[in-house]
Amino acid sequence: MPTPASDLVTLGHRIRHFRSERTLTLDQLGELVGLAASQLSLIENGRREPKLSTLQQLAQALGVPLADLLSDEAPNTRAALEIELARAQKNPLYGALGLPQVKVTKGMPLPAIESLVGLHRELARRASEAIATPEEARRANTELRERMRERGNYMPDIEKLAEERVRASGHVSGALTHREVSVMAEQLGFTLIYVNDLPHSTRSVTDLANHRIYLPPASIPGGHGLRSMALQAMGHRLLGHERPTSYAEFLWQRLEINYFAACCLMPLDATLSFLQAAKRERVLSVEDLRDAFGVTHEAAALRLTNLATAHLDMTVHFLRVSGDGALQKGYENDGLPLPADVTGSIEGQLVCKQWSARSAFTHTNRTTEFYQYTDTPAGTFWCATQTGTTSDGEFSISVGAPFAQAKWFRGRETTQRAVSRCPDESCCRRPSGAVAGRWSGLAWPSARLHAHVLSPLPSGTFPGVDDTEVYEFLEAHADQ
Ligand SMILES: [Zn+2]
Repeated sequence: MPTPASDLVTLGHRIRHFRSERTLTLDQLGELVGLAASQLSLIENGRREPKLSTLQQLAQALGVPLADLLSDEAPNTRAALEIELARAQKNPLYGALGLPQVKVTKGMPLPAIESLVGLHRELARRASEAIATPEEARRANTELRERMRERGNYMPDIEKLAEERVRASGHVSGALTHREVSVMAEQLGFTLIYVNDLPHSTRSVTDLANHRIYLPPASIPGGHGLRSMALQAMGHRLLGHERPTSYAEFLWQRLEINYFAACCLMPLDATLSFLQAAKRERVLSVEDLRDAFGVTHEAAALRLTNLATAHLDMTVHFLRVSGDGALQKGYENDGLPLPADVTGSIEGQLVCKQWSARSAFTHTNRTTEFYQYTDTPAGTFWCATQTGTTSDGEFSISVGAPFAQAKWFRGRETTQRAVSRCPDESCCRRPSGAVAGRWSGLAWPSARLHAHVLSPLPSGTFPGVDDTEVYEFLEAHADQ
C-alpha cells in the first residue's frame, strides 16, 4: 500500500474515529479483522503501516468505503490538532530543542492541545522569519560585495539588455527622458501609474494581472529618482526575476535592477565615449558625468565604478558616508582599507576621520567636489568627495583611486593631504592621553538608540515587505 509515512497518523485517527462511532473496543475490532488489540493500537497511533488486505478488512468491519478510510482529512477538529502536533514534534526544528515528545492521551483537555499546537506554529513562523534578520541581511550583503568585486562591479549582460531597451524606446543621446521611460514600459506591455498611497514597505508595486506599475508621485517633477524607480520595476520583469527564496537572492535582484536602471539612464556606449574623452583630457569627474546624464551624484559615482575596471583600465573605490561618519555603502577593488567588522561587513562601520569622505563635511565650499590625497597603511589614495543633505541628514559621496591613477582625474593637483593610520585605533578612535586623562570618569553621555536595532525587518512573501498592505493596495486600485 503506497501510504506515505506522514499520512499514517491521519489514517490511524480515521480508523479510531470510525471505531469510536461504532462503540467498538480495540479488542472487539481486532477480533473482527484478525488482529491483536496491541497491533491495532499501533496502527491507530500511526506507528505501523497496515497491509492492504488488513485495510480492506477494517473498512468492511467498520462499514465504510475503503476510500473513506484513506481520505487525508482529519475526522474532526481534535484529531486535526493531534495530527498537527504529532507532525510538529517530528520536525527537526522541535527535535533541535531537545525537549520530550508529548503523547496525547484521551483525557488531555482540548485547550492543552491547542496551546501546544499554537506554540509549534509560532516556532515555525519565527524560524522562517529568521531569514530576514539583520544578521542574515549583513552576511548576504557582504557576500554580494565580494562577488561584485571579483567582476570589477561590471555586468555585461545587463549592459547589453539595457542598451537594447533604450535604443528600442527611440532614445538617441543625452539624458533618458521621462517620455522614453514610459515608452519602454509600454513596449513591455505595462502602464506606469503614479499614486499617493503606495504601501510603506515598498518602492513600487507591479500588478501582474492588469499589467500596471505603481510608483510614488514625483516629488521633483522630472527628477532622476522617478525614472530610476520605474526602470527598476521594469528590470524585475526584463531580468526574469522570480519570488526570492532567500535574503541573498532578494539582495541580488535589487542589485540587478539598480544596475539595469543605471545602464538605462547612462547607456554603455554614450557613457563610455564620454568617460574615455574625459580620461584622454585628464579631466575625469563624477560631477561632469552626473550633469551630462541628469542623474544624482551617487548614481554617476556608482556608474563610474561599473565601467572603470572593465573599460577604463582603472581600479577605484566608492563610499557613501553619513554625517555621523558611518559607512552606508562601499565598494573598492583598489585596495583602500575599508573599515569592516569581524564578519567582513562594512555597512555601519565608522570611516577614518582623516579620509575626505569625512573631512569634506567640515570643508567650507561644499557646492563643488572636495579633493584630497590620503596616506593609508595600504598606500596613498586620491579622492573626490561631494557632500549633500537629505531629510535623514548629511551624507558624502566619494570616488577615488590609488595615487598612480589620480592623473586621469580633475582635482589631481590638490594640495590637500592627510595621513590615516586606521585601523590602528590611536589614529582617530581613541582620545589623546591628555584629554582622556582629564575627562575619564567625568563624562556621562546618554546614548541615542538606533530605532532599527530593536525592530526586525517586516517579513512577508518578499523580505521586508508587508503582504497585507500590498494586497489591500492592489485590491483598492484593481478596478480603477
Ligand atoms: Zn583614522
